[in-house]
Amino acid sequence: MTALIVRSRRVVTPDGIVAATVHIDSGKIARVGEWADVTGAQLDDVGDRALLPGVVDTHVHLNEPGRTEWEGFRTATQAAAAGGSTTLVDMPLNSIPPTTTAEALRRKREAARGQCSVDVGFWGGVVPGNVADLPGLVEEGVRGCKCFLIDSGAPEFGWVGAAELRPAMRILSQLGVPLLVHAEVAGPIDAVAAEVARADPRHYATYLASRPPAAEEEAIRLIIGLCRETGARTHIVHHSAATALPLISAARAEGLPLTAETCPHYLHFVSETVPDGATAWKCAPPIRERANQDALWAALADGTLDLVASDHSPCTPALKALEAGDFMAAWGGVAGLQLALPVTWTEARRRGHDLRDLVRWMCAAPAKLAGLDGKKGAIAAGYDADLVVFADTEAFEVTPALIRHRHRTTPYLGDTLVGVVESTYLRGQLIFQAGRLVAENQGVFL
Ligand SMILES: [Zn+2]
Repeated sequence: MTALIVRSRRVVTPDGIVAATVHIDSGKIARVGEWADVTGAQLDDVGDRALLPGVVDTHVHLNEPGRTEWEGFRTATQAAAAGGSTTLVDMPLNSIPPTTTAEALRRKREAARGQCSVDVGFWGGVVPGNVADLPGLVEEGVRGCKCFLIDSGAPEFGWVGAAELRPAMRILSQLGVPLLVHAEVAGPIDAVAAEVARADPRHYATYLASRPPAAEEEAIRLIIGLCRETGARTHIVHHSAATALPLISAARAEGLPLTAETCPHYLHFVSETVPDGATAWKCAPPIRERANQDALWAALADGTLDLVASDHSPCTPALKALEAGDFMAAWGGVAGLQLALPVTWTEARRRGHDLRDLVRWMCAAPAKLAGLDGKKGAIAAGYDADLVVFADTEAFEVTPALIRHRHRTTPYLGDTLVGVVESTYLRGQLIFQAGRLVAENQGVFL
């Protein structure tokens, strides 16, 4: 029996964009039917608004417990609902404790309980000395583990090298979950540090020079070697440097199980136009030049880059050093969870992509990374009925009043974006509509 039918002239399905009915029963998509097939259930007809699967955002820092003044489950998941993201996968760092043991994961779930307005999964962490904790972490429910090859900025989440990664990757491979890598190493960054220290820290160019592409290239060479050696599924997070893309394509051509993501801020902003002192734009690796951005778009188009995730990494306004405008002192991280879908769509559309591409990058591919394919990321029978009604030609201005993150600091303020999230359904239940949250705390743990 169908309990609800959502109908659109443009349903974005794995088979194309079609006029169809989505029949929902017990939170799942029972079937995708003909447009006229509407008998016997409540009908939500959204006309010619596009109907997309909910976004699966596999890269968010929710920071709770321990740094809840930066962000938290309640605010972030409400922002997600308003932005069309129905699944978040939380990063292991910036919370205290970091998610590097089974006990830490239990504490994080405890902190999140009763606060989540969308579904939430968790990544664990690989840090020095916790290889023995990895099987317990995976058994407790993390969907994979992330590591740093360089200082993360969070002292309790240390970085690892080949000696620690080799056994960790063998274990993760046996357990069937991916390793996620922050792919920058310190060598090329240390090499320019003295010169950078003499430059004006209020200029974006100074910060850009401090994280050269070579840091990404060296890290990716290292990680490809380990991927080849261990056979572990390996995923590069927030890829920025165009010069490292050929390394990724060569590894893929070789058949290695390597995937990579980039982020909306790399696809939308270019270093040439970041204002002096505008630390809301600071993230690592950095937003680079216009030509670099063109190469990232080409890599998304040809499949070298698999997916787009927000890397929502907020902090308090004080830590952003907004008044001083000091790029070198400010916390690195862009807050953009709520805007990931319209930002990416604004640029994708301008470059001739359609909604199928958007859904591949932001729904299907991230669901697969997190082991959620078959459940999340597509409008098809058997999947969770996570749906977004998307006015894909409508523009809006990003005003502070719109932002539901804990803090309103974001580089997107004042931007005009295309693509309005009109409503969001989570497992068949309407949770956001016409600018209002209509149901809260309906999320479950994945
Ligand atoms: Zn991150």
